[in-house]
Amino acid sequence: MVHMQGCGVTNAVLLTRATAVDQVKGIQAKYPNRFVWSATADITKPDAVEILTKAVKDGAQGLGEIKFHVEADGPELRRMYALAAELDVPILVHFQEVPHFEGEGVFSTGFKRFERMLKAYPKTKFIGHADAFWANVSADYANEASYPAGPIKRGGITDKLLGDYANLFGDLSANSGNNALSRDPGFTADFLKRNQNKLLFGSDCSCQDGRGGGVSQNNNPAAARLSGKCVARETLTVLKLHTEPAVFRKLTWENGRRVFRT
Ligand SMILES: [Zn+2]
Ligand SMILES: [Zn+2]
Repeated sequence: MVHMQGCGVTNAVLLTRATAVDQVKGIQAKYPNRFVWSATADITKPDAVEILTKAVKDGAQGLGEIKFHVEADGPELRRMYALAAELDVPILVHFQEVPHFEGEGVFSTGFKRFERMLKAYPKTKFIGHADAFWANVSADYANEASYPAGPIKRGGITDKLLGDYANLFGDLSANSGNNALSRDPGFTADFLKRNQNKLLFGSDCSCQDGRGGGVSQNNNPAAARLSGKCVARETLTVLKLHTEPAVFRKLTWENGRRVFRT
């Protein structure tokens, strides 16, 4: 709550493990109508379906974030895509093809093939998030860096899929989202305008006060451009700069409420 007040945010989605149900309920009771819950569990274990089904029965309004060392079109995630459709909740997936530090590994790999999943699971509401989702706004991304810099080559996979598939949404959080909106100012306004019903503001910020205090971008040297800054503040500033008020409201409020059914 200190972070939210510091960066000027009223409501948030809590992305937690399913085991945090009691903590989440405590927070929701203390601050009514401010927090939506989205739950995750280890999807490489057989009981993930059971755990997440229970979490949704207990009040979770989404699955995720889902961040494991599996392929984006592999059996573990396919099971989750089907489950999200069955439970009628969105699923937020972390796509990352390049480790941030030695030994971190990669997550939900193979985003370039992801169109197949959007076709195979038309009833699933996918929320794309993280490095590879955002790096692929540029058509020349070749999994060479976590956060590519410089001009965006138009026609990137992410931009195309957001335009072509009603079941794909994009989470603007973290350095990945901020970087995609900041690296080529000539790209940003049109991108936000054409995808104005498909993008959701999020912060995914680890600063403590909503002003960049504490440890920000820990363990992620590639994201040093935002160290000492609040990701939420930085991204809200970029969004405001490149949108009309009605679009800004969609990105920071209406789309999130629609997708998470609040
Ligand atoms: Zn993530
Ligand atoms: Zn922050």
